[in-house]
Amino acid sequence: MLTTTEALDAVLAATKTFSTEEIAAEDSTGRVLRQIVRAERDQPPFDRVMMDGIAFACSDYDSGQHSFPIQSMQAAGDEVLALENGHCIEIMTGAVLPQNANCIVPVERITVVDGKAKIEADYAVKKDRFIHPRGSDYATGAHLLTPGKRISPLDIAIIASCGETKVEVANDPAIRVISTGNELVAAGEPIEPHQIRMSNGPTVVSLLTSHGHERCEHDHIVDDAGTLRDRLAQHLDDAEVLVLSGGVSMGKADYVPEVLAELGVEVLFHRISQRPGKPMWFGTGTDGQLVFALPGNPVSALVCCRQYVIPALNRASGVTEKPPEFAALASNVSFKPALTCFQPVKLISGAAGQTLAIPVKTNTSGDFAALSATDGYVELPKDQTNFSAGTAVILHRWIAR
Ligand code: AMP
Ligand code: MG
Repeated sequence: MLTTTEALDAVLAATKTFSTEEIAAEDSTGRVLRQIVRAERDQPPFDRVMMDGIAFACSDYDSGQHSFPIQSMQAAGDEVLALENGHCIEIMTGAVLPQNANCIVPVERITVVDGKAKIEADYAVKKDRFIHPRGSDYATGAHLLTPGKRISPLDIAIIASCGETKVEVANDPAIRVISTGNELVAAGEPIEPHQIRMSNGPTVVSLLTSHGHERCEHDHIVDDAGTLRDRLAQHLDDAEVLVLSGGVSMGKADYVPEVLAELGVEVLFHRISQRPGKPMWFGTGTDGQLVFALPGNPVSALVCCRQYVIPALNRASGVTEKPPEFAALASNVSFKPALTCFQPVKLISGAAGQTLAIPVKTNTSGDFAALSATDGYVELPKDQTNFSAGTAVILHRWIAR
């Protein structure tokens, strides 16, 4: 049986990078950038005036002139004017600094009488003040965004300011989320006392979608080897990633591993020394498809999806990896079995600014209702039994930040 680290390493080693596509910049939020976004021009592209007011030459002021005939007006978007000796130009925020000017005084600090702007007597005039110098934010050609960045609303400003209407991003793979089980009935359909509601399909789709993978389709298959074989063969033809749930334990109706083997999917591991999610199965199809078979218990399915499927999709998309996140346990935890424990937690901020993880008990790995109050789970190493409050542990958020 593999450790959690060995299992994740095996998944990542089997994961090939997705190809790229060019899409409209306006549709790219949440997608993984796979190109460098370079500065089209210096920023600002000219010495930019930062106040509504007047522009003049500091040397005139230093030689005792405090009142300036207004030569003309220059607003944002106007072509640059050349200032004449002993004059000022009325200037607006965002305008180009007029040639020969190097001093701005805000409009609140002047009075205009008979076409002349007089500067307030006790106003401290300073050269270069309220001038945002050309190229002081960045220079032409600077690498403003680099491959591996998941495009955020803030990045959209950069892409637009570089004049780009399209960006190259990782292809979003076709994913099939496949739940199995005779006992399961989807919401909206009549249900008998001996049946239970199917929840893994929609929740796994939702988790994948909230991590940026929009092309998920759900299918539910009954526990019948023939049906399973036909439908999985079709899904292997149609998709790059299969995420199954259920049917991987030791029960007589657990056909998933044997059917996948018949379809040429090479098993890379079955079972991981962890709780929940010990029966997890993983393999690759004949065309390199990633095939994850998660245990059916809803808590196990979600933990395994977050722990193994999401990192694989990130790796394949070319996402720049982040260092692990830590949280401090808010209370003592004991966990006896020699398994890595993925303990669901609710996060709060401690007074010292640290992230505190409050363990939330799940009543067996079928208790998905308790998960709604959690933000993620922490990883408790398998070679230890008692974890005291304050211990720093690795945190996995359900939804990445
Ligand atoms: P299995 O791994 O197929 O043996 O399923 C383990 C437990 O999880 C059983 O009690 C199933 O009824 C339950 N289960 C399996 N799949 C789902 C699902 N899609 N939604 C809700 N519960 C499920
Ligand atoms: Mg089952």
